[in-house]
Amino acid sequence: MSAPHVVVAGAGPVGLTAALTLARRGVTVTVLEQGAELATESRASTFHPPTLEMLDRLGVVRTLLDRGIIASTFQYRDRRGGEIATLDLAVLAEDTAFPFRVQCEQSRLTPILLDALPPGVEVRFGHRVHDLTAVGDSVLVYTDRVALRADWVIGADGAHSAVRRALGAAFDGTTYPERFLVASVDEDLDAALPGIALINYVFDPREWLVLLRTPQHWRVLLPTPADTPDEVESARLPERLRDVADLGRPWRILHASLYRVHQRVTDRFRIGRVLLMGDAAHVNNPLGGLGMNSGIHDAVAMATALADVLEGAPDDLLTAAARRRRTVAVDHVQRTSHDNWSRLRADDAAEHDRLRALAADPAASRAYLRRACLIDSLS
Ligand SMILES: Cc1cc2nc3c(=O)[nH]c(=O)nc-3n(C[C@H](O)[C@H](O)[C@H](O)COP(=O)(O)OP(=O)(O)OC[C@H]3O[C@@H](n4cnc5c(N)ncnc54)[C@H](O)[C@@H]3O)c2cc1C
Repeated sequence: MSAPHVVVAGAGPVGLTAALTLARRGVTVTVLEQGAELATESRASTFHPPTLEMLDRLGVVRTLLDRGIIASTFQYRDRRGGEIATLDLAVLAEDTAFPFRVQCEQSRLTPILLDALPPGVEVRFGHRVHDLTAVGDSVLVYTDRVALRADWVIGADGAHSAVRRALGAAFDGTTYPERFLVASVDEDLDAALPGIALINYVFDPREWLVLLRTPQHWRVLLPTPADTPDEVESARLPERLRDVADLGRPWRILHASLYRVHQRVTDRFRIGRVLLMGDAAHVNNPLGGLGMNSGIHDAVAMATALADVLEGAPDDLLTAAARRRRTVAVDHVQRTSHDNWSRLRADDAAEHDRLRALAADPAASRAYLRRACLIDSLS
């Protein structure tokens, strides 16, 4: 009998983590990626402690740390009043070997994962998966160019997943009433807004915002009406940035994108011999940086369970891992990211006092950060 063959659709952070996890266990893996190369789009930029631990076990965290910036704290700020509270991740020292967040774009992780794949793993770029058919204990995976036989398929092909659509799986949930505008700027915001941290959630009932440092620049995330034309929003951006900090001249904007934001989840993360993970299985708003992180956690948990099953463990183990990851997506990731959104928009002095008290109390900070950084979601 030939060795089991797993086909992974999508060479994003989730698909490549799943491929690496399986390959390290000796499983034969082929990755099919629709793009001609790895995506370079500016998206996730925060790595939480448990993700760093997983990447450490895969032998890639040191390179990521070299390319990223360590953020030991993050801030909650009031747009008018400045700092509300600074939370220090050092309180997680008992919980993790990495008591900090790493600021680094996901497009810097994917080449690291790709380079770490053992020589036996085939990554085929320019192969868009468009359909699947179950044939006995196998699955035929159709791309524009070939049909491949797989024993198992991993759908890690993002929010518009062709694998999920081929299975006819629902993707129920909600769309936010506003779009999010992300601008990368070439400005020294430490000088313009003295005392800010590398990660800042800025509360304002009229216009909340997030300020994030990445290795090369600052990113500003702003809510934007759902229905105004993109060109109107582009034209308004310089004025909106001037309202964040008046530099006495227009901000240098390197890049800006508008995103529609959803919270959606598919019914089952395992359907027969197909596993859905990452954005293919669940999406959430980006506040708190949970999407890619939880997707990487899906990849490690489900690919490890699949490797166990391929080595003879009961099949139920994989079903249980898939169920557990769906529970985490709904009860933990979606709830936390939605709470983060609600809090940014609220004008609630009592909440500010609560956050100040939290920051002043190491035990309470630790409990809060264990949840915010996804540590509790893994226990
Ligand atoms: C503005 C923004 C900011 C964000 N910030 C954060 C953050 O700070 N922290 C965080 O954790 N998350 C964040 N996220 C979410 C994060 O980007 C996603 O959760 C993450 O990219 C999911 O990874 P993935 O590998 O599942 O999917 P993707 O990154 O979308 O990768 C999917 C891959 O599959 C390929 N593909 C698609 N269709 C096919 C097909 N039919 N056949 C073959 N290949 C295919 C794509 O080309 C792509 O390479 C943010 C998202 C946005 C939009």
